[in-house]
Amino acid sequence: MKTDIKSLYYPELESFIVDSGFPKFRAKQIYGWLNKGVCEFEQMRNIPKNLIDFLNSSCYISVANIEKKLVSRYDKTVKYLFRLFDGEFVETVVMSYRHGYSICVSTQVGCKMGCTFCATGKSGFSRSLNSSEILAQIESAQKDLNVRISNIVLMGMGEPLDNFDNVIRFLKLVSSEDGLNIGMRHITLSTCGVVPKIYELAKYNFALTLSVSLHAPDNETRSKTMPINNVYPIEQLITACRDYFDTTGRRISFEYAMIDGVNDTDECAEKLSKLLKGLNCHVNLIPVNSVKGTGYKKSRLDRQRDFINILNKNSITATVRRTLGSDIDASCGQLKRNYTEKTGG
Ligand code: SAH
Ligand code: SF4
Repeated sequence: MKTDIKSLYYPELESFIVDSGFPKFRAKQIYGWLNKGVCEFEQMRNIPKNLIDFLNSSCYISVANIEKKLVSRYDKTVKYLFRLFDGEFVETVVMSYRHGYSICVSTQVGCKMGCTFCATGKSGFSRSLNSSEILAQIESAQKDLNVRISNIVLMGMGEPLDNFDNVIRFLKLVSSEDGLNIGMRHITLSTCGVVPKIYELAKYNFALTLSVSLHAPDNETRSKTMPINNVYPIEQLITACRDYFDTTGRRISFEYAMIDGVNDTDECAEKLSKLLKGLNCHVNLIPVNSVKGTGYKKSRLDRQRDFINILNKNSITATVRRTLGSDIDASCGQLKRNYTEKTGG
């Protein structure tokens, strides 16, 4: 098995190089090249041939090669389908805001969680990504667009907390000063609610934003769309969120996809208000994206308005999230699904 060199922290790379019989300063040079985004050892111009041969025989550099790229006509949102070293595909979306560029990265090929409204959930699970493969999505997008990305959301394909160790490693690498140097305050991690891992994440005390995909105010409604709720019911999830806030002092975001006739009644809004009472949080309401085969439709505009009014009346801050890239299937999982259905991949 070759070593995934881009997933190594600097001290690990240094030990690897020194233990293999090469001088320490070579590790610094190699690390510099890796952070410049080189994809082949041959491109490391100041590294001698015997070390390049050694690296080629013992290591690999993760890649995310552009297989397909779509640009929204409306808002310049860019969506990539990246091909990984083993021919698997993941999706990544880059959004442009007034304050800079934000990227939505994938953490797994597919997802095990099976949420009924989600295109990724419908296409099953292949494997988790290494931290270097999560990084490679950002590097490839930056290189292609020739911009610096300043914000990251882990909201692409996959459940980040189901790939815990690689995601923690990714977070440390991407935020390190000699890496891409994107600070934790500019990172949002989204989870469907893997409760024990929320407690574990809290221990790291990162300054990132935890975003919890709630999508329902009670167990009955939530279990209908999110199977994870049968394992970690809503009360346990909210208790974990309260603990997360107490430990980290970071306000929690709740995602709530509004589905016509499923979770958008006044009663749901009242229940949600009660559930979140006293918790320092913000609710993002997202009109659900229709995914082929789910039969779900977005809530009507008047429902969205009434729902948010009830939350606000109960002192819960909430906003309806703008959808970007609606013409390019920007909601993750949809492009891959359409692509592999067409090509038989
Ligand atoms: N697995 C993680 C992160 C990836 S999904 C999670 O579930 O949080 C990113 C976000 O997209 C989640 O909030 C998810 O619930 C939401 N989502 C998935 N399918 C959607 C759809 N069809 N419409 C609106 N939001 C959707
Ligand atoms: Fe997985 Fe998140 Fe999709 Fe659920 S919403 S299936 S957890 S990617």
